[in-house]
Amino acid sequence: MRFVADGTNRYPDAYYPVQALTVHHSVTRTTDPDPAATVRSIYFDQTITRNFGDLGYHLLIDEAGTVYEGRSSGSDGEPVFGGTALAQMNNAAHVARYNAGNVGVALLGDFTDVAPGRAAVDSLIKVLAILSAVCNLDPRGRTAYVNPVSGAARNVRTISGHRDWAATECPSGRWTSPTSTSSNVWSSPVSSPALAGTPQTTLLEAVESR
Ligand SMILES: [Zn+2]
Repeated sequence: MRFVADGTNRYPDAYYPVQALTVHHSVTRTTDPDPAATVRSIYFDQTITRNFGDLGYHLLIDEAGTVYEGRSSGSDGEPVFGGTALAQMNNAAHVARYNAGNVGVALLGDFTDVAPGRAAVDSLIKVLAILSAVCNLDPRGRTAYVNPVSGAARNVRTISGHRDWAATECPSGRWTSPTSTSSNVWSSPVSSPALAGTPQTTLLEAVESR
């Protein structure tokens, strides 16, 4: 759907070094019986209805922890990345004004009032750890992000939630712990089998330790 009738690509691939990783939730149903169908419906909504050129997120994670490739990133078979330089991401559409250099990862479900399950959190930790390593990012650091296209700048945590960039509830303020009332997603203890024996580990500490 990126191509018009004469074969022209309306949204050509454009690759940039990664400066930030941003987490979302999809605000689709939780306890989803067919998450692959949900990924396809998100694709249709964002690509066709909202005209993002392709799925807005680079990666999506369902409640079983399965990771889906969202935005196409070229023909090399590697998700997220492409182009000629190692660890350059294909531009996508998940945070208004701050997309180039910003990788978007969405948890499937609506975590406004409930926390995601262990399998999803465990996959999220792995995905963020791998992306941090490949992109040479400090998962507990901050980034002086500058959009290489527009020059729009923000200073945020290198691993942020959508809400850290814009006025949105996404991905909720308390999903890292079912019992937490903290508004700080990243300092709340996470519950994950990957973290057995370290119940006070925060999400970012977990990412760093992997
Ligand atoms: Zn979001």
